[in-house]
Amino acid sequence: MNLMKSFQSEDPHYADVCIVGAGPGGVLLSYLLHLKGISTLLIERQPHLHKSFRGELLNADGLAVLKKHGLYSPIQKLGLLPLEQIQYWEEGRIIHTIHPNPDKGEHDVGVHVPQNHLLEAITAQTEIQSPLHQVRFNTVMTGLLRDKSGKVAGINVRQNGVPSSIKASVVVGADGRYSAVRKHASLTPEIRKHGYDLLWARIPAPPGWEPAVRMASMEGQQLALFSQYGGYVQIGWNIPEGGYAELRKQPFAPFVGKLVSAFPCLADSVAAHIQNWSDFVLLSVESSYSSQWAKDNVVLIGDAAHTMTPTGAFGLNAALEDADVLSELLIQMAQDDFRSADVLHKLQTIRGPKVQQQLARQVEMEASFQQRYESYSSAII
Ligand SMILES: Cc1cc2nc3c(=O)[nH]c(=O)nc-3n(C[C@H](O)[C@H](O)[C@H](O)COP(=O)(O)OP(=O)(O)OC[C@H]3O[C@@H](n4cnc5c(N)ncnc54)[C@H](O)[C@@H]3O)c2cc1C
Repeated sequence: MNLMKSFQSEDPHYADVCIVGAGPGGVLLSYLLHLKGISTLLIERQPHLHKSFRGELLNADGLAVLKKHGLYSPIQKLGLLPLEQIQYWEEGRIIHTIHPNPDKGEHDVGVHVPQNHLLEAITAQTEIQSPLHQVRFNTVMTGLLRDKSGKVAGINVRQNGVPSSIKASVVVGADGRYSAVRKHASLTPEIRKHGYDLLWARIPAPPGWEPAVRMASMEGQQLALFSQYGGYVQIGWNIPEGGYAELRKQPFAPFVGKLVSAFPCLADSVAAHIQNWSDFVLLSVESSYSSQWAKDNVVLIGDAAHTMTPTGAFGLNAALEDADVLSELLIQMAQDDFRSADVLHKLQTIRGPKVQQQLARQVEMEASFQQRYESYSSAII
């Protein structure tokens, strides 16, 4: 392993590995590489790690990665919320409940973790390992730096508006669904629309609400509520794809009245916090899959390689799993000073099949939602 270079990680213009994007995938990868003494730079275009309206539900896969690397308890100290059940509601009452199965080792149906808690806890652990480490904020990747032979030799950036470059042996695109690394490496994703968009809102939960996922079917579309750490509830309301402009022409009160009729106990909180269309955030829903995740010494992880829809809450967890696997491959590459870039293709070989299964599962869950709902509903009549 190239430990000499790891002592040079203070060099602002060089790293063995340059990671673009301090989301869950990038932050975890940076931690795992610092643990092994690999010189790593993590750049982020935002000025901080505080993000809102991101995937915040950890499933068993994501939890396993965090626990494997001793990261669960630092995150738990900042605050997280295990969810106890999934409830299906109709006309203001519960018609079906799914509990975790302790015989299968399940203790919850998912864990809500505010994304800033996840990112800050992992970053703090990285700083303990490598005190000089800092996420380089306000730094936007603007292109790939190439040597005379055309080989990627790093990235071009704009840091606080000033252009500069970072040389690196490997460039990791952990820069999300609209990845600049993917674009500059000409790795084209196949994009799929899913027939729906999503309205999001976050409001205080009614007092005494148990931590749960609550579902309702609203005119055949899924309406989901997720209890969140800190006493909040996240609302995810599917609407027909491209239909928001039309929806906004309608009066607001009857629309939001449907939310209250599905979950009457939300009435006070909705009245206080959702008063017009601007209290919702629109997410245009799509998934994507890059047929190639690596090219020469550039590799993609997380949403940059495969964006998922919010269904089933796979995306955050998949990004953590990618980072875990890629860290092992980069540690292997460090043995020969990062010359064997072919190793990077193994990421897709190892992770691709599971990601494709999850993408297919999302389509299946989306298509069968209404049918599943009707079967729960008819079972209680
Ligand atoms: C509304 C919504 C709800 C979701 N709900 C869930 C859920 O409950 N559970 C779940 O598992 N997943 C969920 N997801 C998906 C989840 O948020 C993503 O899959 C996950 O965040 C992907 O992590 P990532 O590290 O790959 O990328 P991201 O989290 O997207 O992070 C990418 C980072 O790169 C930075 N960046 C981008 N371009 C550049 C550039 N040019 N230069 C420098 N930095 C750059 C961005 O600022 C960002 O910080 C949801 C997604 C959305 C949008």
